Amino acid sequence: MKIAILGGGVAGLAAATRLSQLGDYETHIFESSQQLGGLAGGFWGKGWEWPLERAYHHIFGTDTDIIELLDSTKYKGVFFATPTTSSLYKRGSSYETYALDTPLNLLKFPLISFFDRLRSGAALALLKVMPHLPLLDRETTENFLTKTMGKNNFETLFGQMFRKKYGKYAGNILAAFIWSRIRARTKALGYMEGGFQSMIDHLEHYCVERGVQIHKNARVQSISPVDDDNSSITLHLAESDNLQTAFDFIISTLPSPILASVAKPLLQAPEIHKLTKLKYLSALNLIIETDVPVFTKEYWVSVCTADLPNLVFVQHTNFVDKRHYNNKHLLYISGYYEDTDPIMSLSKEDVLQLFLGHIRTIRKDPFLVGESYLWKAGYAQPIFDSEFLNNMPEMFTSHPRLFLANLDMTYPHDRGTNHAARLGVEVANRVMQEALKHRV
Ligand SMILES: Cc1cc2nc3c(=O)[nH]c(=O)nc-3n(C[C@H](O)[C@H](O)[C@H](O)COP(=O)(O)OP(=O)(O)OC[C@H]3O[C@@H](n4cnc5c(N)ncnc54)[C@H](O)[C@@H]3O)c2cc1C
Repeated sequence: MKIAILGGGVAGLAAATRLSQLGDYETHIFESSQQLGGLAGGFWGKGWEWPLERAYHHIFGTDTDIIELLDSTKYKGVFFATPTTSSLYKRGSSYETYALDTPLNLLKFPLISFFDRLRSGAALALLKVMPHLPLLDRETTENFLTKTMGKNNFETLFGQMFRKKYGKYAGNILAAFIWSRIRARTKALGYMEGGFQSMIDHLEHYCVERGVQIHKNARVQSISPVDDDNSSITLHLAESDNLQTAFDFIISTLPSPILASVAKPLLQAPEIHKLTKLKYLSALNLIIETDVPVFTKEYWVSVCTADLPNLVFVQHTNFVDKRHYNNKHLLYISGYYEDTDPIMSLSKEDVLQLFLGHIRTIRKDPFLVGESYLWKAGYAQPIFDSEFLNNMPEMFTSHPRLFLANLDMTYPHDRGTNHAARLGVEVANRVMQEALKHRV
């Protein structure tokens, strides 16, 4: 049996890993870039001992699916720590950070009254204990939190962050998102020895050793039926006339709009239409090396003020030892934007100057900036608004040999490597069940 996996991110690698554990099948991964890993992939800075993710990454203590997958391959690199997280507010002309990560810290938060702290804490506690009720799929987060904690509290605690994470869609994000967010968060955060790229490289080697064929720089342009009985699918690669032979099953982990264009010859028009209706924001990550940390103790700093154009600062080396990065302190300055946002077309130098202006008002003491790196990624943040549920892709498609497992299918959870791993394993199991049913 011959299976093609489209996309070599964590979902594609998880699917290939699971297939290789289930039996002796001919599995191929087709990845358009020169490196596996997708959104979780890493790069090497000058003099570094470890690569670093192009976009900040950690896992939570509740991320059991990825841990189980890695355990099944004897990967031992995951470690947990409890770095400091906080939120940044502007008071007068200066910036202050406040820890808001525990009920006790919320009770000490001075920007709302004591009664409002109690009320907000109660609303968040409710989210922590309640099951995924249908109302969470109808109500927006903004309405839900406004009703439960009050408008002013929602605005102070979440308003800016929502606008920064979801732009013009902020008011429409479903309440299930915040429910999942509050439930899944743990104080302990996980990282990998050698970075997430080392985990990806490990999965790649594991798959290759078990016979999986990995094709890099292999952008899939289209997939089409071989004949009328739907029993196999042919795959066409871009940039060459390379026509791959027929596959019994295809697993797509591509973002839905890309799949919509790739699978046009295969799927029915209404299904293609739904895939094209899904919305995303792109991510921009500027990483700077400095001689001293910009944030002295915090790893994660959510930006809760409108005068900064980013969502978060991540002082990576307050979580992972700087000795792995040539003793440089590393800071991510990150946000999500429409592709048409002017910031997305700025050069690295211009993005650096834009943010340095802000950062020098946050950290008044002098610091030196060394190397910097700018990464932009499309299809980075799916928009889970009320329209989303009408168009959410499903693992089974209208074509019996095409299966999906992509970052639009993690709802109600926000996308993440844990969900990519879960979907990859699940889709491999489903394909095997179908193969047995049809005696392929
Ligand atoms: C800024 C940011 C921060 C994040 N932080 C975290 C975090 O802290 N923790 C966490 O767990 N997760 C985090 N994530 C999410 C996590 O990276 C993703 O959920 C996960 O990597 C998705 O994996 P995937 O395989 O589903 O998709 P992708 O990684 O998008 O993989 C899809 C693959 O398909 C390839 N591809 C696209 N088109 C084609 C084509 N035509 N032919 C062949 N290949 C193609 C792409 O190159 C890509 O490799 C973050 C994401 C972003 C953007």
